[in-house]
Amino acid sequence: MAASTVRINLDGKPINQLTILMIGAGGFIGSHLCEKILQETPHKILALDVYSDKIKHLLEPDSLEWAGRIQFHRINIKHDSRLEGLIKMSDLTINLAAICTPADYNTRPLDTIYSNFIDALPVVKYCSENGKRLIHFSTCEVYGKTIGSFLPKDSPLRQDPAYYVLKEDASPCIFGSIEKQRWSYACAKQLIERLIYAEGAENGLEFTIVRPFNWIGPRMDFIPGIDGPSEGVPRVLACFSNALLRREQLKLVDGGESQRTFVYIKDAIEAVLLMIENPDRANGHIFNVGNPNNEVTVRQLAEMMTAVYANVSGEPALEEPTVDVSSKEFYGEGYDDSDKRIPDMTIINKQLGWNPKTSVWDLLDSTLTYQHKTYAEAVKKVISKPTTS
Ligand code: NAD
Ligand code: UDP
Repeated sequence: MAASTVRINLDGKPINQLTILMIGAGGFIGSHLCEKILQETPHKILALDVYSDKIKHLLEPDSLEWAGRIQFHRINIKHDSRLEGLIKMSDLTINLAAICTPADYNTRPLDTIYSNFIDALPVVKYCSENGKRLIHFSTCEVYGKTIGSFLPKDSPLRQDPAYYVLKEDASPCIFGSIEKQRWSYACAKQLIERLIYAEGAENGLEFTIVRPFNWIGPRMDFIPGIDGPSEGVPRVLACFSNALLRREQLKLVDGGESQRTFVYIKDAIEAVLLMIENPDRANGHIFNVGNPNNEVTVRQLAEMMTAVYANVSGEPALEEPTVDVSSKEFYGEGYDDSDKRIPDMTIINKQLGWNPKTSVWDLLDSTLTYQHKTYAEAVKKVISKPTTS
């Protein structure tokens, strides 16, 4: 980005150079957001995380054109006195740090609650006390289950959008009982949203809350046994990618009937950049960020990924590419699921004029091309190693 280019925001105002503290910059979303900011804006990033592998290509070598605009801080926000200083040095803090893989919600509920609520508290407090703007990452999971899911299976009302479309300012948050520990994450995220909202109302905190609806793309999670633990269970994109790479069956939890809307990470990041550069339009708002046109069941996702991967890899699909597993077997005790997630787009359309562009087929094509290029050789090597008995 040439330093002399004057960029203007949606209201025609010049965009000043910002210093952005990005907490969780080394994760999936953080890595794409860093890339976008460095490539297309003049802003500076203080990138904070405990890991940096996914942004290594942005940090080294020193000859990169943006070398002076990104600085990595290896910090755990659970216990580090440098956090407040970094918030004070920045114009804007973006908090992405979280435990956010469903396999952890029911098996590590304490870590999940601490990570998504307790560890976020100082970030909110320091932003509020120092008069600094905050963009906080929540989740679509705060909506929980749809109202429609409680209607009889054959009720015609299930087809009525009033019973399933999720609206930031109108839909209730519907979680399961306490022993369904799946909801530990959603509940912690809901409480931090309420706290941020209250800081805005009572103490004037300038905030924006983002509710991502299944953002997917390259660098999401890890492939077990390659760049993550062998026994680890990532989110569905990486679980299915792992099975395809290993020529194993894709596991459909409870028949793969749940529905999701998937949005391509590069579309979603454009929405975040609009929030960053249009504070007058973004402050005080909660935004759904998803693609309502990309709804599929998990079974359909598995079928589409199988077809796309066969094309990308040139290897024919298995004769029976999927297998059903129970949620208890796959995730253990206390798992529960969101039935359907369609974002209402009224608020983000009105405030930021943002719309997603990429279809499920297109986003799977680019993502699985990346997965194949990045992992196929490494997986082959691991599979071909003789196992010691
Ligand atoms: P991710 O796990 O890839 O990234 C999170 C990053 O935060 C990781 O790099 C991790 O090391 C870091 N982190 C966690 N705890 C930390 C701590 N104590 N100190 C410092 N760093 C810490 O996840 P992601 O998909 O990039 O998600 C980012 C945010 O968006 C999360 O808050 C998540 O809840 C939310 N979200 C994402 C999605 C999605 O579709 N990807 C959906 C809903 C919500
Ligand atoms: N899922 C599945 N097989 C897998 C991994 C996940 O059937 O190998 C299902 C999971 O039960 C859920 C959906 O896929 O219904 C999406 O899971 P993900 O982990 O991506 O997170 P979620 O959307 O539930 O937050």
